[in-house]
Amino acid sequence: MTKAPTLGVQLKGIQFNYTLGKQSIPALRGLDLNLVAGDFVGVLGPSGSGKTTLLNLVGLIEPLQEGVYLWEDKDVRHLRDQDRNAIRKYEMGYIFQSFNLFPTLDAYDNVEFFLTRQNMAATERKERVEWALKGVNLWEHRNKRPLEMSGGQRQRVAIARALAKRPKFIIADEPTASLDHKTGQTIMEELAKLNRETQCTLLVSSHDPMVRGFLKRTIHLQDGVIGHAG
Ligand code: ADP
Ligand code: MG
Repeated sequence: MTKAPTLGVQLKGIQFNYTLGKQSIPALRGLDLNLVAGDFVGVLGPSGSGKTTLLNLVGLIEPLQEGVYLWEDKDVRHLRDQDRNAIRKYEMGYIFQSFNLFPTLDAYDNVEFFLTRQNMAATERKERVEWALKGVNLWEHRNKRPLEMSGGQRQRVAIARALAKRPKFIIADEPTASLDHKTGQTIMEELAKLNRETQCTLLVSSHDPMVRGFLKRTIHLQDGVIGHAG
């Protein structure tokens, strides 16, 4: 008997506007999206199409304005702040386009940072940091600070930092954008391996056609709405 996959994320009728002075800038204009557990979905679309806004909404970084967002069947709008924070902290890993690494911390400490805020035994923390850095082939560079690393290495630290949380859901905003083609491919291979081996759900934005081959499915964003899938 096969079990129906759990719905991780359900979005319905999502609209989002930025306010700039008196101006309202629509970024998402009525968007529906369902992600099941173990999904590997790419959000493709040109610059300005709303990819980052969508990822930030799903990642509970931006507040919900219009529409419904169910996280594992729970209506996000009705969650208490502390429950929303707990989801973000324990169940999601977010890989930012600009990496958001701490410049004064080395790779090891960057990966450990978010774990130190969780109630976790030091031995487990150590084990996880080692596992995550080895997973992205950076263990031998663990004592380097971001400025001593290449763009690809920094991106891998950012990935390791998300992995170390062992989240069920990972969001990555243009993870290959600042990398050369080959390094970008390696990063995508690592994300695909993670999806295969841990059944972790992945939502990845990109405007790089190379990433397509790695994804289970693709949605196309254009001016804040989903166009034809392909
Ligand atoms: P993408 O990630 O696909 O490039 P974004 O989600 O960043 O798209 O942007 C969608 C739209 O929202 C664009 O028109 C962009 O100019 C606008 N936008 C994004 N962030 C802001 C912001 N902080 N303030 C005002 N407008 C914004
Ligand atoms: Mg963006």
